[in-house]
Amino acid sequence: MKIDLIQVTSTKGIIEGMKTSRRKDHIERIPEKVMKWGHWSVLEHCSMTVKISEISRACTHQLVRHRIGVTFTQESQRYFDPLVNPDWYIIPPRISRDNKLKQEYITARNKEAEEYRYYREKGIPKEDARFCLPNACKTTITWTFNMSSLIWFFEKRLKKDAQWEIRELAQKLYDLVLTIPDWAEFLKQWKLGTRS
Ligand SMILES: Cc1cc2nc3c(=O)[nH]c(=O)nc-3n(C[C@H](O)[C@H](O)[C@H](O)COP(=O)(O)OP(=O)(O)OC[C@H]3O[C@@H](n4cnc5c(N)ncnc54)[C@H](O)[C@@H]3O)c2cc1C
Repeated sequence: MKIDLIQVTSTKGIIEGMKTSRRKDHIERIPEKVMKWGHWSVLEHCSMTVKISEISRACTHQLVRHRIGVTFTQESQRYFDPLVNPDWYIIPPRISRDNKLKQEYITARNKEAEEYRYYREKGIPKEDARFCLPNACKTTITWTFNMSSLIWFFEKRLKKDAQWEIRELAQKLYDLVLTIPDWAEFLKQWKLGTRS
């Protein structure tokens, strides 16, 4: 899985939102106050766009269930071709760790690629041939979110019971946000389980 940061706004909008809310020119410790008070809507004044690649469609299917304060653009499967790129699917680590299971898994994916080839050779367009492809297909998705929707995503997907791939995405994104100093100031004040 790879996450590229495409663009990010500063957190100035959050600062101005807090000042507006309290009719003050200056407020101390804004990140701490926003998180402590649960003043979530002010976090909507900043946004970030990331591009995620080498991720399965099983994972992006879960990701796009997050509807509020976000927008997505996903690679069209009409332009995806398992016959061009042999590295077209994700292997779950629990399968990858077992040599026998891994070989069986690869054989099954090869069969799907062959089925896809068969339909294409029979003149079936990609939009129909893709019906035989699995959730394991790699995809690319561009995702824009604001800080409030990001925190909500983390609440749901950083938890131990989240599915491994979306949890990995949440953890990588969390680590990425920590490298952006003004966003990190806010994120460091948030604790898992404090937003419901
Ligand atoms: C462990 C786990 C297992 C899951 N399993 C399944 C599953 O088996 N099947 C499945 O379909 N989904 C499943 N989901 C997805 C889940 O149901 C949510 O769609 C997903 O987590 C997005 O959460 P959300 O709706 O809170 O987020 P958002 O869509 O970003 O919404 C944020 C918040 O806005 C409010 N909101 C949004 N839309 C509306 C609305 N139309 N009306 C009123 N309030 C609204 C709600 O308060 C919501 O919590 C699972 C999620 C997790 C974390």
